[in-house]
Amino acid sequence: MRRPDGGCPVCAMLSANLVFAVSLGYVALLFFVAYLGDKRARAGQLGLFQSPLIYTLSISVYCTSWTFYGAVGSAVRSGMEFITIYTGPTIVFIGFWFLLRKLVRIGRVHRITSIADLISSRYGKGESLAVLVTLIAIVGSTPYIALQLKAVTTSFQVISGGGFADPDQPVFADPDYTMAFWIAAGMAVFTIVFGTRNIDANERHHGVVAAIALEALVKLFALIAVGLFVVFYLADGPSEIFSMAPPGLLNTEEVFGPRWITLTFLAATAVICLPRQFQVTVVENADERHLYTASWMFPLYLLLISLFVLPIAIGGLTFLPETANPDMFVLTLPMAMNQDLLALIAFLGGFSSATSMVIVACIALSTMVSNHVVMPLALRLPWVEMKASGDVRRLLLISRRTSICLVLLLGFVYFRLSAKSDALAAIGLIAFVGVAQFLPSLIGGLYWRQASAKGAFAGLLAGFLIWLYTLFLPSFEGAFLIPLSVIENGPWGISFLRPEALFGLEGMDPLVHALFWSLCLNTLIFVIVSLIFDPKPLERLQGALFIDVFRTPADNEARFIRRYAASNDLFVVAQRILGTESAYRVFSEFAQNQGVAGHLPRADDEFIGHLERELAGSVGAATARAMILQVVKGETISLDELMKIVDETQQVIDYSRQLEVKSHQLQQTARQLREANERLKQLDVQKDDFLSQVSHELRTPMTSIRSFAQILLDTPDMDEKETKRFTGIILEESQRLTRLLDEILDLARLEGEQIDWELHEIDASEALERAIATCQGLAAQSNVTLEFRDEAKGTIIEADDDRLRQVFLNLITNAIKYNSSPAPKVTVLSAIENGRYCVSVEDNGAGIRAEDRERIFQKFSRGWRQSKDGRSGTGLGLAISWQIMQRLRGDLELLPQEDGTGARFKISLPCKERAAAE
Ligand code: ADP
Repeated sequence: MRRPDGGCPVCAMLSANLVFAVSLGYVALLFFVAYLGDKRARAGQLGLFQSPLIYTLSISVYCTSWTFYGAVGSAVRSGMEFITIYTGPTIVFIGFWFLLRKLVRIGRVHRITSIADLISSRYGKGESLAVLVTLIAIVGSTPYIALQLKAVTTSFQVISGGGFADPDQPVFADPDYTMAFWIAAGMAVFTIVFGTRNIDANERHHGVVAAIALEALVKLFALIAVGLFVVFYLADGPSEIFSMAPPGLLNTEEVFGPRWITLTFLAATAVICLPRQFQVTVVENADERHLYTASWMFPLYLLLISLFVLPIAIGGLTFLPETANPDMFVLTLPMAMNQDLLALIAFLGGFSSATSMVIVACIALSTMVSNHVVMPLALRLPWVEMKASGDVRRLLLISRRTSICLVLLLGFVYFRLSAKSDALAAIGLIAFVGVAQFLPSLIGGLYWRQASAKGAFAGLLAGFLIWLYTLFLPSFEGAFLIPLSVIENGPWGISFLRPEALFGLEGMDPLVHALFWSLCLNTLIFVIVSLIFDPKPLERLQGALFIDVFRTPADNEARFIRRYAASNDLFVVAQRILGTESAYRVFSEFAQNQGVAGHLPRADDEFIGHLERELAGSVGAATARAMILQVVKGETISLDELMKIVDETQQVIDYSRQLEVKSHQLQQTARQLREANERLKQLDVQKDDFLSQVSHELRTPMTSIRSFAQILLDTPDMDEKETKRFTGIILEESQRLTRLLDEILDLARLEGEQIDWELHEIDASEALERAIATCQGLAAQSNVTLEFRDEAKGTIIEADDDRLRQVFLNLITNAIKYNSSPAPKVTVLSAIENGRYCVSVEDNGAGIRAEDRERIFQKFSRGWRQSKDGRSGTGLGLAISWQIMQRLRGDLELLPQEDGTGARFKISLPCKERAAAE
């Protein structure tokens, strides 16, 4: 381990002139690279200049001096928290790749020039929304730009002034405003030279992007160099450096706390919503496939650049005096060890991070200001004449250049106003919360059709105002607009409205607090207002084009809008914006496509749409539309009408969908009808069967009655004995007929009856005993031993007394009648089984054959066993009994024959009250 000589921190101090000269040299290199990039682009030989690598490196403009210097400072102050700034974007690039792809696709198809342009285009190309987004972007970016100025100035002071050597005189007591001013001026010049070379804001700035990619490499190289120096020169490798870490530094207690989550979310949002990120990721994207590379390469870059943050922080805390500013460790560590070259490299790294951010931010912001503020104003002012060719171009260039200066000036002013605050990271986060306000309308615009311009405007405005009040203005600590007393006690002493504890939400981290209120209200108002006010036709159309960007081609718009214009008029407009040469090119190319001779194409819908997008690439969608509308005559079908048509189409679609549903229902009904019909047919067949069975059953006794009656009639001299016999048969047959009719009617009633029977509580044993008593006579007559064992005495069941007895009678008489055993015996047994009252009737006859068991309960099934008196029954008894048991909520079943003899029938019923003797 090495320490500064003599233990006293004597700092290597580089001469201001040397540092200045090196910086100038570096800037000259940047100029050269940018120049080369532009030259190659003009010659159409981009090669490496338009590669996924350059694209990815340009996205790393995300890592500003805040990350370069500030990450170490943040690690010293708040431990591992700095990691969130890298994890947020990593999550977006890896997990939300589809969102970025949609943005890039929309950017390319609709020739989007900035995030303000995207939001305003999506919501019907309105100007006020674009102005609001521009305003938020500027106010949000200003602290960020100030931060870069501050970082460069401070680092310059440190490297040329031997910074921390004297603890009594803090470095930041007196920031060098003059230097900051000249740095800002220098950046303005660079941006103007390479950022506004071309007015087509949508055309890529190859030169600038190349320079920024170089800067990305320099800052990465510088940070890794310092890191390696700390780990392998000051210490003997990673394990030693981490062993020196003070206990608080690696503290991970905070991980996944509210602040941690808020910061990750903020960083994720920022990498999408920051105007400069939008510029490099969407506007400067030349090929959608580059995004694919960036999705893994950019997270890798972030990993590399964050790798040495902790070692450098530990090194600074270990080797530098306590007064040293942690935000400058990256620079002061090599200085303390007398490593001039390394210190210079570190300085250049920080310088690169700052300049690249400022340059891209200025390009993005100046495009917004000139396209959405200056141009719409100029178009309205009667005294701004824009008749000649290229007038608009000139105006645009002037306004863009002025905006660049203005944006930098604002940054400078903020720098002066907030110079007292020492922490770099805090300022960066303020900007993050500001631009996070774009998120609801941006995401809503990409996925929610109902999202409307009014909703987006109201939401953005609310979020912006809350951000101003709760975070931005308090950051001046009383120096600007809000006095300290208001910050501490609330306006007019109302503590409920205190900026940092709004609506009584106390004890929260100010950042989490501000993000919570601003984004919640922003989203809520956006959603509610969108739901209340329907989007206008153009908004709806644009919304559909944006949401379905992967499905609908951009010129779909032309299909909807009927517009006519004179080609000449259009040419004049194009000429004013694009300049004669480009306008001529655009027109003749299109004329060629249409197959029209000359350079003027037919000014049909398609061409007007194409031209509008072409112009939007320079002046933004809102202005382009305004300018085209000046010469477009008679939109023969108004958008409202169009929308009506669209609505009607929608209605037709809805109607056909309803029809579809109906026809589906009809199909179902038809199926049900078919099934019912089938059932009816079956029933009909059953009825026929039944009728034929009944008539057959009736005919047999009728026939014998008729024939015996006939015989009696025809034979008047028949002897008395014979006459008696014949009359006996007639009587018997008519009794049988009556019984048969009774049973048929009974069964028909049982089957047809819909109403439930009225059941009464009865004593089951009593009913059974009576039935057995009735059968005693028959049993004695047939020499059958009838045995009765009542093991469920006193059981109360719910039943219909007569009907239950009818079942008992039927079972017992069958058992007596069909018992062919020489020593016939019938056993009736009642018992409680599984909580149910059961009665089984068993005989020792021949039983029921296996093949008959299935149909035994069907109507008219009988006669497989001869009854003892030789007379067959009706075959209805068991069918009736089964029906009765169903209606009594009970069961009747034929139990399996155990040893091959005898039939065993069993009924069971739910018990009301158990027998006490169970
Ligand atoms: P029926 O007794 O009026 O013919 P059932 O429906 O009561 O009508 O009986 C149907 C047929 O089942 C009888 O004809 C008989 O062949 C047979 N059967 C009923 N009970 C017994 C039994 N205990 N043993 C043998 N056969 C039986």
